Amino acid sequence: MSSWENDTTQAAIALPEPSATEISEPHWQACKEQKLLVQQCSNCQSYTFPPEKNCPQCFENTLAWQQSSGKGKIYSFTIVYRPQTPAFNTPYVAAIIELDEGWHMLSNIIDCDIDKLAINQAVAVCFEKRGKSVLPMFRTV
Ligand SMILES: [Zn+2]
Repeated sequence: MSSWENDTTQAAIALPEPSATEISEPHWQACKEQKLLVQQCSNCQSYTFPPEKNCPQCFENTLAWQQSSGKGKIYSFTIVYRPQTPAFNTPYVAAIIELDEGWHMLSNIIDCDIDKLAINQAVAVCFEKRGKSVLPMFRTV
């Protein structure tokens, strides 16, 4: 038995929320408006996520926010049975999503049958409120 399984303070532990930075703030603000934003370089056209100050491909300060379709496919995933903190309900799915624009992001797949998930399965973004934040999540389509 782990030290926290029967811990009566477990309910008081909140799920972690993202800490927006000056660079990532537009992404998190857009999530509150049910929009998924990604940076695209106007010099080399590559997409960048997580948010950066300069383009990691050409190093120019030419990144601009674009709205993603929010549609993509499962690039990779794992099913988590032992969470980082006891606040998480398990099992849950951590996945790398390949968006239709060709960029990747780490997220969760929710409301799914975890036994039927597959690489390349189509997914679409959805948004989940957590505390004062709104997180981009994905559902199978
Ligand atoms: Zn670039």
